[in-house]
Amino acid sequence: MYNVEVIREGGRGDQSMRWFLFEQNNSGGYFIDNDSVCETVFIQARSAHEALNMAEFLFDPYSEYCECCGPRWGYYVDDSDGTDVPMIYGVSIYESAEGMFRKKCILHYADGRIERVKYKKEQK
Ligand SMILES: [Zn+2]
Repeated sequence: MYNVEVIREGGRGDQSMRWFLFEQNNSGGYFIDNDSVCETVFIQARSAHEALNMAEFLFDPYSEYCECCGPRWGYYVDDSDGTDVPMIYGVSIYESAEGMFRKKCILHYADGRIERVKYKKEQK
């Protein structure tokens, strides 16, 4: 368990909390999937800056690099990327259908709580 207080910029329960999306690249042909990360990670934060700090902390141990595939994680979020509800491709994750490679996500709440969400099976 990480020490949230060190990374977070203080306070909690703030209305300005937003969700920031970080997608893992399958460098080397695989995703790292464990208690902290999977193919898609959401971080709840007050700002992109705070989310990035948290992301770097969370992802650092899981950043195995492949020369041909490039970096495993992209750190390109902006304040305007934050959403009230965690969303992927403009759809709430609670409504998202699973894809070939992306079947679930992990949410890191500002208070340190972790939630896992599996996307819906595609209806045929
Ligand atoms: Zn590669």
